[in-house]
Amino acid sequence: MANFIVLLGPPGAGKGTQAEILSKEMNLVHVSTGDIFRENLKNETELGLLAKGYMSKGELVPDDVTNAMVKDRLDRDDCRAQGALLDGYPRTPDQAAALGEMLREISGKLLCVPYIAVPAEVLVERLSGRWTCPVCSTPYHMVSKPPKVAGKCDHDGAELYQRDDDKPETVKNRIDVYMKNTAPLIEYYRQQGLLAELDGTQDIAAVSKEMLSLVRGRAQ
Ligand code: ADP
Ligand code: AMP
Repeated sequence: MANFIVLLGPPGAGKGTQAEILSKEMNLVHVSTGDIFRENLKNETELGLLAKGYMSKGELVPDDVTNAMVKDRLDRDDCRAQGALLDGYPRTPDQAAALGEMLREISGKLLCVPYIAVPAEVLVERLSGRWTCPVCSTPYHMVSKPPKVAGKCDHDGAELYQRDDDKPETVKNRIDVYMKNTAPLIEYYRQQGLLAELDGTQDIAAVSKEMLSLVRGRAQ
């Protein structure tokens, strides 16, 4: 049975950063719904054009669209065989229920839900200093995770960019949207005995170390 992990936490908590490390260590497919939407936006697909209006305002793309997109992704052979690390999904109770159904259909096991806890004032600082690779989506930070060569991705040398939705006005709305729609999932997964809270204000390596030991413990 393939294992699945949901990374929970507000925007800027470090989900993408930790997913890059954890997916390699645990040989899981990294599925980021934000990355899939951005890829569609870049390719000007119908899905990308639909998502654009929501993303630019920091709103959530409607559940039915997002659930269908994730179902399509999890149905593929790599996820079925290796399992996946979900980053940015689920973000609403409806999405959490849909994920439960998808995992039942593909006989996947939700191993645990690491929740990266970070206070709002730290999130604003993190997102305003975030630089992202347009090719592989690796996130960097001016202060806490600078690239080896200024402005270039360590993996592929691509020119880093700042996401439009990392502007302060949009960040504020994204945090509000998270508090209203996504934060209730903390309790939802706690009640299922799957939640493990991590202190996301530690440095990147310390968070990874805790997360890896947690996930390895559950995988046994
Ligand atoms: P998310 O995917 O949850 O939105 P990211 O992984 O993109 O968050 O991280 C947001 C920003 O914070 C990035 O610029 C990243 O380099 C930085 N960052 C991530 N984790 C930490 C950490 N533990 N300490 C300091 N900065 C971090
Ligand atoms: P992220 O890269 O996770 O910060 O997501 C960027 C944006 O993509 C969000 O602000 C939403 O507009 C959209 N998005 C990503 N994941 C979801 C999701 N699970 N449900 C709805 N919208 C999403």
